Amino acid sequence: MFKKYDIIVVGAGHAGCEAAAAAARMGSSVLLITMSMTNMAQMSCNPSMGGIAKGQIVREIDALGGLSGIVTDHTMIQFRMLNRSKGPAMWSPRAQSDRMRFSEKWRELLESIPNLDFWQDLVTGIRCNEGKVVGVFTALRMEIDADALILTNGTFLNGTIHIGEKTFSGGRIGESSAFHLTENLNELGFEHARMKTGTPVRVDGRSIDFSRLEEQKGDEQPGKFSYTDTPPLLRQRSCYVAYTDPDVHDVLRKGFDKSPLFTGRIKGRGPRYCPSIEDKIERFSHRDRHQLFVEPEGWNTAEYYLNGFSSSLPEDIQYEALRKIKGFEHARIFRPGYAIEYDYFPPVQLLPTLETKIVERLYFAGQINGTTGYEEAAAQGLMAGINAHLKLHKGNEFVLKRSEAYIGVLIDDLVTKGVDEPYRMFTSRAEFRILLRQDNADFRLTPKGFDLGLISKERNEQVLHKQEQIDEVVKWMKGESVSPEQINPHLETIKSAPISQKIKIFQILLRPEVSLQGLLEVLPNASSKIRSFGISDKESLEKMEILVKYETYIIKEQEMADKLTKFEDLVLKDDFDYQQLTSISFEAREKLSRIKPRTIGQASRIPGVSPADISVLIVYISR
Ligand SMILES: Cc1cc2nc3c(=O)[nH]c(=O)nc-3n(C[C@H](O)[C@H](O)[C@H](O)COP(=O)(O)OP(=O)(O)OC[C@H]3O[C@@H](n4cnc5c(N)ncnc54)[C@H](O)[C@@H]3O)c2cc1C
Repeated sequence: MFKKYDIIVVGAGHAGCEAAAAAARMGSSVLLITMSMTNMAQMSCNPSMGGIAKGQIVREIDALGGLSGIVTDHTMIQFRMLNRSKGPAMWSPRAQSDRMRFSEKWRELLESIPNLDFWQDLVTGIRCNEGKVVGVFTALRMEIDADALILTNGTFLNGTIHIGEKTFSGGRIGESSAFHLTENLNELGFEHARMKTGTPVRVDGRSIDFSRLEEQKGDEQPGKFSYTDTPPLLRQRSCYVAYTDPDVHDVLRKGFDKSPLFTGRIKGRGPRYCPSIEDKIERFSHRDRHQLFVEPEGWNTAEYYLNGFSSSLPEDIQYEALRKIKGFEHARIFRPGYAIEYDYFPPVQLLPTLETKIVERLYFAGQINGTTGYEEAAAQGLMAGINAHLKLHKGNEFVLKRSEAYIGVLIDDLVTKGVDEPYRMFTSRAEFRILLRQDNADFRLTPKGFDLGLISKERNEQVLHKQEQIDEVVKWMKGESVSPEQINPHLETIKSAPISQKIKIFQILLRPEVSLQGLLEVLPNASSKIRSFGISDKESLEKMEILVKYETYIIKEQEMADKLTKFEDLVLKDDFDYQQLTSISFEAREKLSRIKPRTIGQASRIPGVSPADISVLIVYISR
């Protein structure tokens, strides 16, 4: 019934969809096997994409030719650029999505890819021969052949759902969990562990009194995630802000003796930065209120997601506590909150390509690697799809450096440091934040996406051309002066010190209180000159302003990144015998032997390997 495929992808979550799309668009024949074709790219938790550091990841996925940004643009109902008051390294786009349309759009895009096939089934085992993948076994007793396999099982492996004292098996509420695969992977030599996550109640919007909540509108000029010509967002839905109070906390506390979290029934580690409401009132008992975001689930539904109220307390306690919140006195709920425990595979068992070290041509991507979040999952899926295709057809690999992309930071952290709690991306994890901005993801990555065959020639040329235009304008601003008569009235209105003699536009723009937009309004000549370079769109003007204002920092970070690259270029062989290096610590020898870093750079980031150990290694390999 089935032909032999180049690649099988297991699971159509965010990781699986990106993996299947990338590998098939690069030219592999791909079969995407998933338990439910109606739940593809489900947003298991909040209906939103992006946010701090995650927004940068979605932009990077798009710049490389992935599809998450395009799907988000087509399905968003609100857009906000977070952290605008901070420096541009911190600006992070976030969109509220229509949950149902998000899933539908993904399916539509996937079905438009010619060499991508689909099969609804449960994969129960991996077929291997001489340490290499040869296919899968499924619950429908199929044996399907493939040269490579990408596992993206999310929260489904032996998933257990908890609501109060009730415990039942499931990968998400209403969906069954995936059995046998963990045990099969254990037999092949893989280690696994347990993690936990949770989700809040979904509320019937018809029963909420919005007049008692604070409205949170989207940006007046909403942006987008994709660099392609996706449609602009013309109308938006509002979110709302609500607060818990001591009465709400008292009701929640009544359920603590039945909480699977506090009674010890949940063993897996949960996401520290996304705790349940019971966790928050226990850990921060001095705080008498917590902020909640009331987020619409789509254009045409009354369902609302109550961000910040995640809970696994009994459903009657969740309901009673909800009704104590201002604006929710008469609230009805569609679904209760719950917690879920699932198996994950510590990612130090992976190479930087996301291929496993134990079984060749087997790749893991997404939550199976101990991460949390759609964006982190999608990024890994894209990279696994690319690398599985390259391994089969070109024999090379695609690994991003920490100085090139958040995706590089993510995967390097996973395979080098491992995880002991659900890993989510933060800007603080990246040492080159000013280089890895959301505005320049296309300059950083689109040429790479083109080399991979995921970006069209035309799109790549447009990006290169834009980069040239922007560089030209910045150069022009460094050479062009303005006189006191031209600029002082404007400087006065924005309370900036007047100038006494001619000064370069570039110098003026370095002042924090001066904006490029403001300058162009009072300098019509400069405005028409910039237009003559072919630049008029808001995004390019923003890019230019950032390049001017942060030039010194950008140069400094680039120099540091270049220095680090030297270490990244010092390659360590896979079969290097670290035990022979008796002058480095026992811990370093043990960890280096286990993790088998690819480069001196990666070795230096392994916890427990000291700078002194690295010096010895450098001396040794330099010989
Ligand atoms: C209750 C809950 C709460 C969450 N809360 C948060 C949160 O607060 N913040 C956050 O960032 N993230 C949260 N997440 C996590 C977020 O949903 C995931 O990080 C993200 O969806 C992971 O994407 P993925 O592609 O790795 O896996 P998933 O989106 O879980 O997709 C896995 C896919 O694989 C399929 N599958 C699994 N096993 C098999 C098999 N053997 N055979 C065939 N198909 C299979 C499933 O049907 C599914 O389609 C939550 C998830 C859940 C379930």
